[in-house]
Amino acid sequence: MIFLKSSHEIDLMRQANQIVADALEKVLYAIKAGVSTEYLDRCCEECIREHGAEPAFKGYRGFPNALCVSINDEIVHGIPGSRKLMDGDIVSCDVGVLHRGYYGDAAMTFPVGEVSEDADRLMKTTEEALYLGIEQAVAGNRLYDIGHAVQTRVEKEGFSVVKVFVGHGIGRQLHEDPQIPNYGPAGRGIRLRDGMVLAIEPMVNTGSDEVEILDDGWTAVTKDGSLSAHFEHSIVVRDGSPEILSLKKKTH
Ligand code: MG
Repeated sequence: MIFLKSSHEIDLMRQANQIVADALEKVLYAIKAGVSTEYLDRCCEECIREHGAEPAFKGYRGFPNALCVSINDEIVHGIPGSRKLMDGDIVSCDVGVLHRGYYGDAAMTFPVGEVSEDADRLMKTTEEALYLGIEQAVAGNRLYDIGHAVQTRVEKEGFSVVKVFVGHGIGRQLHEDPQIPNYGPAGRGIRLRDGMVLAIEPMVNTGSDEVEILDDGWTAVTKDGSLSAHFEHSIVVRDGSPEILSLKKKTH
């Protein structure tokens, strides 16, 4: 069941997602070679709590931290720890927040120092694919129009979209209906409507789309060891068009 959000609920979700955007910015500022992923997690959690919000991922099905941090061939759900960032790494950071009863969720992949041409092209392609997917989130379009736009952009580059993880509705729950695949035929699926809040999140690999889960039970990696990137925004369909809730609003 898809819950349409009222304009009051959308305002609350914008607040939650602005905290997510702020936390991602704090993490970005902290990223450099030699810094541990648990330090990034501390920066993230501190920021969230300073806003009076809760880290949504901490304790979610037993996930131990506020930040999911996934390096290079890690796709999503990496657990922060003592591993230190190195020049040339790409780091996918996913943040979830619970604030005043509503969830916010967004992710970005950041470079550490100079990265390879492939890594750079992967990050740009994934972010561009996210925005092309968001452009399709207009009232009257169909759900799969989003995934179709994502997949088309990604495959044009010779990369693959991960199929086993999908985007999702979001609201009073972190994961609500509908599921939002990053692939599929245009013109299919439910019709998009005003009041839908959607977390759109392409995960893109330079190699095959096959996924393995590490022994920690969480970290998803590419089976072929290829690089992976992840960009996510929470958006609302409002007055027919998508508004990105998790895009940091300029304060000056
Ligand atoms: Mg998400």
